[in-house]
Amino acid sequence: HTPDDDGRLVVVTGGGSGIGRATALAFAAEGARVVVCDLDLASAERTAELCALSGPGAAAYRVDVSDGAAVDAFAQRVAAEHGVPDVVVNNAGVGHSGTFLQTTEKEWQRVLDVNLWGVIHGCRAFGTLMVERGEGGHIVNLASAAAYLPSKVLAAYATSKAAVFMLSDCLRAELAPHRIGVSTICPGIVDTNITRTSTFSGLSGEELAAKQSKVSRMYARRGFPPQKVAAEIVKAVRTGKPVVPVTVESKAARLLGR
Ligand code: NAD
Repeated sequence: HTPDDDGRLVVVTGGGSGIGRATALAFAAEGARVVVCDLDLASAERTAELCALSGPGAAAYRVDVSDGAAVDAFAQRVAAEHGVPDVVVNNAGVGHSGTFLQTTEKEWQRVLDVNLWGVIHGCRAFGTLMVERGEGGHIVNLASAAAYLPSKVLAAYATSKAAVFMLSDCLRAELAPHRIGVSTICPGIVDTNITRTSTFSGLSGEELAAKQSKVSRMYARRGFPPQKVAAEIVKAVRTGKPVVPVTVESKAARLLGR
């Protein structure tokens, strides 16, 4: 059963996998047209194919969200080919784990370039289009429970997410007069590529293997699927809820040092 086109256009960055793919599918199932972008075009195209099976239509683009000019060009292309989006989900992100003293300058840069600058670029390019159109809309930014739970092994990642948290708070105040909502989603540990491939650069090979196998066993017993986060994102857009913590098994959080 394909739902009727509900008239909305939804953009999801990092839509090729995990939470991004699940979110694209959740909006498609409600009847929204979906545009997904990802660094990996093939995975974005796969998401678009899956969305088209259950929704009114989807398109895929290759975009590196850390590249501001590329995100501006993407936004212009979306506007020209599909229209100004009603909902933008700034979801693309990279994981990183390691103690502060072991995190290199290059690692800091990569994490901030994607997780913080990627969100800045998306908010600016699409926020500008939404304000110009004058018909309101909603921006959803993926932060993390790490934005407010200090961890010994997540200094760079948590810092990038705390910045996204505050960016969203400021933008919410700025865009409210334009009837553009801004929601910050703060998941705990979700069963996706990011958590399965965590490296824990502070640990020895043996400790790392032990920790990863513990996490895998925990997921096997009671993983937290990205679909649950996607459902919260869809709900946040519907209700306009500003900050949405998505809790997970606390044991998982402890295992990962949060
Ligand atoms: P994931 O690795 O499955 O998906 C991330 C997607 O983003 C991938 O498809 C990847 O190719 C894409 N991407 C990475 N860098 C990009 C770039 N520069 N430009 C465009 N696309 C890029 O991971 P996920 O868990 O689905 O993560 C989605 C978001 O949720 C991230 O922002 C992540 O930080 C956040 N988050 C995840 C968890 C978790 O436990 N999995 C918890 C809290 C927050």
